[in-house]
Amino acid sequence: MKVLVINSGSSSLKYQLIDMETEAVIAKGLCERIGIEGSKLTHKANGKELVKEEAMPTHNEAVSLVLAALTDGEYGVIKSMDEIDAVGHRVVASGEAFKKPALVCEKTMQIMEEIKDLAPLHNPAAIIGVKACLAAMPKKPMGLVFDTSFHFTMPKKAYMYAIDYTHYEKYQIRRYGYHGTSHKFVSEEAAKYLGKKPAELKIVTCHLGNGSSISAVDGGKCVDTSMGFTPLAGVPMGTRSGDIDFAAAEYVAKKEGLSISEANTYLNKKCGMLGVSGVSSDFRDLRAAASEGNERAQLALDMFAYSCKKYVGGYAAAMNGVDCIVFTAGVGENTPSVRAAICENMQYLGLTIDEEKNQEPNTGAIRDISGKDSKVKVLIIPTNEELVIARETVELL
Ligand code: ADP
Repeated sequence: MKVLVINSGSSSLKYQLIDMETEAVIAKGLCERIGIEGSKLTHKANGKELVKEEAMPTHNEAVSLVLAALTDGEYGVIKSMDEIDAVGHRVVASGEAFKKPALVCEKTMQIMEEIKDLAPLHNPAAIIGVKACLAAMPKKPMGLVFDTSFHFTMPKKAYMYAIDYTHYEKYQIRRYGYHGTSHKFVSEEAAKYLGKKPAELKIVTCHLGNGSSISAVDGGKCVDTSMGFTPLAGVPMGTRSGDIDFAAAEYVAKKEGLSISEANTYLNKKCGMLGVSGVSSDFRDLRAAASEGNERAQLALDMFAYSCKKYVGGYAAAMNGVDCIVFTAGVGENTPSVRAAICENMQYLGLTIDEEKNQEPNTGAIRDISGKDSKVKVLIIPTNEELVIARETVELL
């Protein structure tokens, strides 16, 4: 069985074709600059790479190009689209309308339209991606897999905001959490690696990338997570502020003459590591600048690690202990100094790391960097959100 996973962005479309028997990636690629001049497809399969610079005014042309690449005589991996058994679509926001993945049909697409304002940058792109795939493969079964689903096990005391309760009822204003496919994947992988059942473990999963979120996973179920109604909440990120006093944001907006919507854009795009450092949102640039003595770059890194540390401690408190901490995503998998800064001074949890192991290069395999006598396992686990989307799609069938 072969599943095509589609991750549509506003001007991009990432894809993977996965063989579900072996869970191997048969082909993958990216369409960039959809709707903008200079659009380009990069397709990788069988160790070869195809780059096609061709106009993609909409996602329809992008999907056509992807299907052409997949069935290409030289770079292709299938003879015809009939070999694709299903398509799994990544969707960012679900609201309370979808508490688990759902099959694409008229009804679910209508609900998708109704909730698209919840993630105005992402959900409309997912709808366009689904429609483009349906246009090319009208009869193909398709799944909608949400970034939020894994977090629906949170207890109400964790997901409610202390606002007028009727606004929760009227508008479903609450914490949803994001990166759910990643938190699910790495928490399950951690249990497998440790030879335990998920039910036996209290895990804190740290998905640290350009966007970052931290989750508390107790007995295989998410019980809290750092992102909120939108991905803006939690630890400071590449360009997002993370948690902030609303009154401080309102004050900046007044002084700078920003509307509420502009203030939201400011908090999402101009703050975080970029805002504090004035250098970059990218952790590689921040580390380079900090090592050259840039104090604001160092401050941004310190603030990030401190915030992550507080979430880890908070979630250990919420779960009455922690057996394992997992680091994943771009920064979590590749930045020893950030892991070290988060894990330092955690003797109160009996947690230490082995600094030599922490410094070893990323091989793409799971790594155990726990100190010799550490009571808490510290693991680095490469995430695989596409595989979760493919698995969930198969489950829907
Ligand atoms: P996104 O949230 O966009 O998926 P990623 O998980 O790719 O982000 O993380 C991007 C961040 O990870 C950047 O700040 C970058 O510096 C860091 N990063 C990614 N890959 C590497 C790498 N190979 N070495 C060092 N840092 C990396």
